[in-house]
Amino acid sequence: MKDTKEYFPDLDCPLCNGLIRVEKRCPKCNQALVDGGTLESYFGPYSPYEEVDDELQSFFPEYANDRCLHLIYCPDCGWDKRIGIPKIVIE
Ligand SMILES: [Zn+2]
Ligand SMILES: [Zn+2]
Repeated sequence: MKDTKEYFPDLDCPLCNGLIRVEKRCPKCNQALVDGGTLESYFGPYSPYEEVDDELQSFFPEYANDRCLHLIYCPDCGWDKRIGIPKIVIE
């Protein structure tokens, strides 16, 4: 398994680093969704994921070419979704 950090040493996940927050709401009960953390350690970097939602996508620059896989979930009804957060350069 390749370690992409070897090739992109300056890229990091803005969600892991607290630079952005999940601001989606549950499609079932409208509860605010919570970031359940990264999934890479469980499923590996090549597992399928949902594209990041449009409002989050607009935050990221075009050059983002690596992703951090997160699980977001509803603490109320248990609905969840995997999203790939594009990594960015963090100073
Ligand atoms: Zn992350
Ligand atoms: Zn819910």
